[in-house]
This record gives sequence, C-alpha cells and structure tokens, in this order.
Amino acid sequence: MKILVLNCGSSSVKYKLFDMDRDRVLARGMADRIGMPGSVFFHHVPDRGDLSLDIPLPDHYEAVKAIIGALTGGDLAVIAGTGEIQAVGHRVVHGGEYFQSPVAVDGGVLEILKECGKLAPLHNPPNIMGIRVCQKLIFHALQVAVFDTAFHQTMPDHAYMYAIPYEYYEKYRVRKYGFHGTSHKYVASRAAELLGRRIEDLKMITCHLGNGSSLCAVDGGKSKDTTMGLTPLAGLMMGTRCGDIDPAIVGFLAEKEGSGPGRVLEVLNKKSGALGISGISSDFRDLEEAALKGHARANLAIEMFSYRAAMGICSLVPALGGLDAIVFTAGIGENSPGVRSRICSYLACMGVFLDGEKNAAKGVEADVSAPGSPVRALVIPTDEEKMIARETKTIAEKVPRVY
Ligand code: AMP
Repeated sequence: MKILVLNCGSSSVKYKLFDMDRDRVLARGMADRIGMPGSVFFHHVPDRGDLSLDIPLPDHYEAVKAIIGALTGGDLAVIAGTGEIQAVGHRVVHGGEYFQSPVAVDGGVLEILKECGKLAPLHNPPNIMGIRVCQKLIFHALQVAVFDTAFHQTMPDHAYMYAIPYEYYEKYRVRKYGFHGTSHKYVASRAAELLGRRIEDLKMITCHLGNGSSLCAVDGGKSKDTTMGLTPLAGLMMGTRCGDIDPAIVGFLAEKEGSGPGRVLEVLNKKSGALGISGISSDFRDLEEAALKGHARANLAIEMFSYRAAMGICSLVPALGGLDAIVFTAGIGENSPGVRSRICSYLACMGVFLDGEKNAAKGVEADVSAPGSPVRALVIPTDEEKMIARETKTIAEKVPRVY
C-alpha cells in the first residue's frame, strides 16, 4: 500500500510518500513560499537524488500539482500515476473534542474541522485546504485526517479543565487540548520497543523539545496530561513562545504599551521565549555557540529553558504515579546533549542519571542513562509522518475501497 502524507501550512506543503509494504520512504519534499514571490519546490528521492525548482506556486492547488508532477513524471518519478496512491494522510492540528483518533474525511468531517478551526485559526484552514485540493487532484484515494490533539483526548477532566468559570467550557469549549500528539505517541511506542517492555506496563514522560515544545505524561500508552493547552502557547518556554506566565501580564502589558491584548499575544507568540530572553536567536544552535563565547543572556535562555522543562517533568509525575523513563525528541531533544544534561541535572532527586558518554548521541536512537539509573533516559528521533502513514493505513484497511 502506498500512502502520501501531507502537512499543509499556510505557505508550505511538506510531503512524504511511503511504501507501507516495504516500510520505505519513496520520496519526500516541500513546496514553500506558496502565494509569495520566490516560491520554491524541493523533491528528494532516497539513493537517487534531489530536484530543486524556483517555480511560481500561487496557491495550494498548484503546490499539490507540483508534488504530483514530481512523484509521477521526470527523472525522479517514483510512481507511474496517482492511481498507485491508496490513501492520503493529512496532518490536522486541531480536532477539538470531536476526534479521539484519525478519521476518513467526508463532507460531515470537513464541517467539523471547520468548527474546530475556531480554536486553531492559523492552522486548521490550510489543513482543510490541503484536504480539499487532494479531493480534486487525488480523488480516487481515501483522505484521512490525523490530529495533533487526538492522542491527548484520554486526559481526565481534572487534568484538562482550567480553573475558570465552568460556563466558559460549556459555552466555548475552553479547556486544555494539547498538541504534538502524533510525535508523543510515536516516541512512546518506540521507547517501549527499545526498552523491550509492553507499553501497557510503562510510565513515561515524553519531551518534544523543538521550536515548539511540549511534554506528555504517557501511562500505559495513553496521554494522561500534557503541557500545552487551549493553544500551543502554553506550557514550556519555547523558541519564540513564552510558555506559562502569570496571565495578568497580558492585561498589564497591554495597558503599559497602550496596545490591545492581540498585540501582546503576538509578542508572547513570536518575540518571547529563547529569542526574547537572549535577544539574538530562537535557534538553540546559535544560543549554545553564543553561550560558549560568554554571551550571558544566551546562557540564561538555555538555563531557563532547561529549568522549566525539568519543572514540567516533575509536575507531570502525579499524573503517572511513578516514572520508568523520560524520552527526548524533536530538534533540541534529539540533538542537544547540553540541554539534555542541563535538564537532567535538575532531576537527580527523581532518580534520573545520564551517562556522559552515551549522552553525546545526536539524532539517533539511544539509551543515554547511566547504568543503574532508576529512571531511564532515552533519545528517540521523532517521525510524525511515519506515524501519520501508519494511522492512515489502519483507517484505509477498515474503510471499503473507494478507488
Ligand atoms: P524542530 O521544531 O523539532 O524542527 O526543532 C528545531 C530546533 O531544534 C531548532 O530551532 C534548534 O533550536 C534546535 N536544534 C536543531 N539542531 C540542533 C543542534 N544540533 N543543537 C542544538 N539545537 C538544535
């Protein structure tokens, strides 16, 4: 079975084509700067080569057409026609309380996705656009929506409710939803395989530390709590997002700066976090280099990030009632031994001990804990596309053939 996975953002479409029977990625790439001057298209076929094109991509329709063109024609074609694609798995950021698992898309589902878009106005609309375009261009294939929020729908109400008047939950569904669910689910299942244990028997905290960062308490393979909330602004300090702050700061700054809360929220989303503290970059590679050269605020940003991640890990332990392993993933979690080491330095009291040499691992699966560490520490590169492909396959196998 061949499955195309699409991740449609407002100005980009990332894709990966999987051959599920052979567990292989046939091609991957990205259409970028859609609807802007200077749009680019990149296509990569493992062991065969790359294609880079500067082509006009006025909209998502043209972007998906370019993807289909590269997959089916030219020197780097990997399939003879779209007829070989049996299902398309779409990353959809917000499924609200409607979806606890992936779903085959029909008219009714699209309506609900639009409704959920009220909670993710920047993300759901391009996701929906990608589905609509594929319904036209790859019409014979099953379209499946896989949600960032779905994995966290197993959180109990005492974890997902906010301590504000209950009527806001009833009227507007204001509650914690959580994000990065596909990544947390993937690394949790891979961690169980690496540890040689049944996932049902494991209590883990998965740490997705990238531009956006979140933690998840995974008990027996199910999310019990997570650090992001109604929106991806909550929880940990991030590249440009503030994470948890005193909510009164929003009103205070709006008054002091003479701006509305919308402007303050923009600053909290785009100019805060590691960028706001360091004043130089949101990228931890830049920050680590600067900190080594003695840049005090870069060092402060890294230490704050690490301390808050450690606090977040500790705060999730009651959701689990114990802890077998912590799992590091995403850009920083996979690639920064320094940040892992700083986080774990705060966690010795919890029985987390790293092995200095093993912790040098970058971008590869590794058990980086010291021998005898009561809590194991693992590094597992995330693979959200693979997880989306797997979930799409499961749905495609259940749904009668529509092609
Ligand atoms: P992601 O959102 O998962 O793609 O993560 C992107 C972020 O990972 C970048 O902005 C960097 O902050 C961080 N990152 C990537 N590679 C490294 C590295 N080798 N060392 C430290 N941080 C890294």
